[in-house]
Amino acid sequence: MPDYDLEQIDSEAPIFEAGAFRLAEADAALIDKVRRFGRRVLAPRAAQHDRDASFPIENFRDMHAEGLLAICVPKAAGGAGAGFAAYCLAAAELGRYCGATALSWNMHVCSTLWTGALADDLSMSPAERSEHNMRRALHYRRIVDEGALYSQPFSEGGAAAAGAVAFGTEAKPVEGGFLVNGKKIFASLSGAADYYGVLCTERAAGATASRRNTLYLALPATAQGVSVVGDWDPLGMRGTVSRTLLFKDVFVPSDAMLMPRGVYFRAATCWPHMFLTLSPTYLGLAQAAYDFTVRYLRGELPGTPPVKRRMFPTKQIAVAEMRIVLEQTKALWFQAVSEARANPNKEQVLRAYAAQFTVMENANALASKAIRTCGGQAMLKNLALERVYRDSRCGSLMLPWTAEICLDRLGRETLYEAGESDD
Ligand SMILES: Cc1cc2nc3c(=O)[nH]c(=O)nc-3n(C[C@H](O)[C@H](O)[C@H](O)COP(=O)(O)OP(=O)(O)OC[C@H]3O[C@@H](n4cnc5c(N)ncnc54)[C@H](O)[C@@H]3O)c2cc1C
Repeated sequence: MPDYDLEQIDSEAPIFEAGAFRLAEADAALIDKVRRFGRRVLAPRAAQHDRDASFPIENFRDMHAEGLLAICVPKAAGGAGAGFAAYCLAAAELGRYCGATALSWNMHVCSTLWTGALADDLSMSPAERSEHNMRRALHYRRIVDEGALYSQPFSEGGAAAAGAVAFGTEAKPVEGGFLVNGKKIFASLSGAADYYGVLCTERAAGATASRRNTLYLALPATAQGVSVVGDWDPLGMRGTVSRTLLFKDVFVPSDAMLMPRGVYFRAATCWPHMFLTLSPTYLGLAQAAYDFTVRYLRGELPGTPPVKRRMFPTKQIAVAEMRIVLEQTKALWFQAVSEARANPNKEQVLRAYAAQFTVMENANALASKAIRTCGGQAMLKNLALERVYRDSRCGSLMLPWTAEICLDRLGRETLYEAGESDD
């Protein structure tokens, strides 16, 4: 086990202090446990996986032992039963210590959050509900008992991941299940996941492709016809190992459905905050850039000489400015996360876009300012800041709510009510 200072872990403040942010006692305890795990287990391993662009599989094995793979699995099914907000706050704490692990964990956890608390909020017929409960129990059992890892490949390199058109990956209904064909790019956990939670379009021969027919299927990584191709040598988030997946006539039984027919489309329409789940990792990175700067300027950063730089007014002003940006980011994000629900009103949806944009852009802005403020020695690769800088650069690119798409929707949906035009 790497060397770590238990006292320091215990004294590090949570990003969202339980009393100040009025967290429920059980949620605060869970988030605290995740924070300690991130600091103690993930932080010491992060640099090596970043350097090698290797998947931190041992982090996920340790998460299984801690019950964290099942954080959003309902308690009745053996999980921790965390809701949307508790999960987001916990994920931010992991992002603070290893962005790549937090982002990959998010892909896995969403397979349980979307099929769990979120699906419970959606209207379903009694038949759909009972089918869903039966199937999700199978997935939850694999996660709780066996530590199975699920990934979430939806990006294809076209307009589908942005929600504009139907997914090009298709599932043809056949006797007992589906035949899946297609390609997914940037699939985090490629080669490491046990199941790929693939978004695809159900399409019978001769039928037209429609977003309404989106299926969410768990394809076993070992199924015949599944392959992982291409290399992975990106700027940041290197430990996610997000390579390309190819599916060639992959047969999966009907049990592989993570949601009943039509329910993913209903979720994407009625529960838009489901796409805010990529932001917690980056909120954590924003906090990491700030934490680094304060410790470095105080001469207290482990691995650096105890040289203080805090006496210069320029440093004090920079830290003040960073604190203001961090507090603004946290406040808006916390509000958006707290009001996530089924059928949010227009103001809540616009606020969610604003929160996503703010976190993704400010995480990198804070990391950039941290480097300028701390100076040249702070950006050497033996320290975490340059990794935080590179990882945080990826946030604005995450579909379906990229920074550009958030701006586009915020402007248009503010100025136009549904159905309005200037014609
Ligand atoms: C580290 C990392 C991990 C990832 N992990 C996963 C994963 O596990 N699963 C997954 O599915 N994806 C994942 N992604 C993929 C990610 O969401 C993007 O799909 C990916 O960055 C490739 O998209 P692109 O930028 O090439 O998209 P392009 O389609 O080329 O789009 C480029 C930009 O154009 C804009 N744009 C695109 N479409 C529209 C539109 N319809 N309207 C307006 N503007 C638009 C967007 O701002 C977008 O950023 C990951 C990405 C990164 C960086």
